[in-house]
Amino acid sequence: MNDTQYLSKKFTFDNSYARLPERFYVRLSPTKVPVPKLIKLNEELALELGLDPEVLKTPIGVEILSGNCIPDGAEPLAMAYAGHQFGNWVPELGDGRALLLGELIGLDGIRRDIQLKGSGPTPFSRMGDGRAVLGPILREYIISEGMNGLGIPTARTLSAALTGEKIMREQLFPGAILTRVAQSHVRVGTFEYFSARKDIEGLGLLADYVIRRHFPDAGKSKNPYSALLYEVAIRQANLIAKWMLCGFIHGVMNTDNMQIVGETIDYGPCAFLDTYQPDMVFSSIDHMGRYAFGNQPKIAQWNLICLGQAMLPLISDDEDSAISQVKEAIGIFSTIYEEKWTSGIIAKLGFVNKIDGDIQIAQDLLHHMAENGADFTLTFRRLCDLSVKSSDFDGHVRDLFGYSKEFDEWLIRWRRRLLIEGLGDPDRKSAMETVNPAFIPRNHLVEEAIRDALNQDFGLFEKLLKVYKEPFKYQPEFKHFMKPPLAHQKVHQTFCGT
Ligand code: AMP
Ligand code: MG
Repeated sequence: MNDTQYLSKKFTFDNSYARLPERFYVRLSPTKVPVPKLIKLNEELALELGLDPEVLKTPIGVEILSGNCIPDGAEPLAMAYAGHQFGNWVPELGDGRALLLGELIGLDGIRRDIQLKGSGPTPFSRMGDGRAVLGPILREYIISEGMNGLGIPTARTLSAALTGEKIMREQLFPGAILTRVAQSHVRVGTFEYFSARKDIEGLGLLADYVIRRHFPDAGKSKNPYSALLYEVAIRQANLIAKWMLCGFIHGVMNTDNMQIVGETIDYGPCAFLDTYQPDMVFSSIDHMGRYAFGNQPKIAQWNLICLGQAMLPLISDDEDSAISQVKEAIGIFSTIYEEKWTSGIIAKLGFVNKIDGDIQIAQDLLHHMAENGADFTLTFRRLCDLSVKSSDFDGHVRDLFGYSKEFDEWLIRWRRRLLIEGLGDPDRKSAMETVNPAFIPRNHLVEEAIRDALNQDFGLFEKLLKVYKEPFKYQPEFKHFMKPPLAHQKVHQTFCGT
């Protein structure tokens, strides 16, 4: 048995997407890279996928994770999709620098795509080189795993490897490849691709595939397609509420970056808020602020409308009936979003059961945060430490608000409200700490880790991955990572790096 066959035994691919008709994708192999070198393997994730980390770290394992070797059973392909980018229709996008290697069923019984990102040009590359560079790859690694630690549905990162090539962006950077693991790579844009081509058969096959694989209950419904839309809207509402409750800005919520199962995918110029500013935009290409923090729920709905429009021909032959069913299905988004956001913010404030006036208390806090430039994550985390009956630790929070009189008045209202709950300080503190992270992937730390890595120092990258595994747990050895950036450390803009 040669190495490849030995390793192939470790990958038991079952490639359902590759069994769809040829017009769904283009089959091709990754481009070979000169000197693959593993930067990091996510050993825990490998184990969850039923893979042997020790084998993946061997030279042949690294060849696989960098696209030089295709294990038996893999069927690499670039998926076809279209999308609305910044509101503009683009009829053909597709995987321009990624290849789906195949699907693995993990120990939890869930089927996941294994995808190489940065694996060379494909017929969908247009003007791009099909490559990825070190900085954005490490960014995706840290932030996607950070999101997972925060309990937010996300594509995961199995590995990052250097390719040994230099890739031209603003200057030459080391080339890198990321192995992405996600429950699906079907996007809103995949549905739009078939709908725009008036390929109703393809559209139906795609919808049936998604129902079979991800939403089997929808398949039992009277109208499986409107049920599918409804399920997708619920997943999106849940996801966006989680983003909004932890200060995450995706940055490029184009319909091709909105995955159908409700996992966060396509980490480009994404960022976490430091100070709370609802109109905050980090992405260098988002000139109009379309994807500003506070716009995200509206944009998710806009994207769902695109999905609904694409699915109209499946839902009913009668256009009026199709439109009203689509409207009804998508309508669930606002209900679930409000529900999730409300219960989430209530829990962040330490309230157990919602009563009248709670949302006003939350809105007022956010307002004072914005007025005073208070740090979003730290405000909530420090509120956990306050006592209902004594003001001993108030200074830590008041400090974030520049000791503003308005915030002091808010604190009085918050305390009065907490008294109704009757929870003791220790119990409230531990409950609040499970929903208010101490650590988030702060932009300045991520950037610093990337700068160090470009100088061959992966120390900070490793530390960040460690701390973000348990972001709700106070880790005293890393307490400096809780701090917001100093003025000179502030990151004002983030880049796609494509
Ligand atoms: P994104 O903004 O990363 O979601 O990418 C939008 C589209 O551009 C997708 O079709 C990508 O596959 C493609 N793309 C992004 N970067 C590259 C690249 N370096 N080479 C080829 N295609 C790319
Ligand atoms: Mg994309």
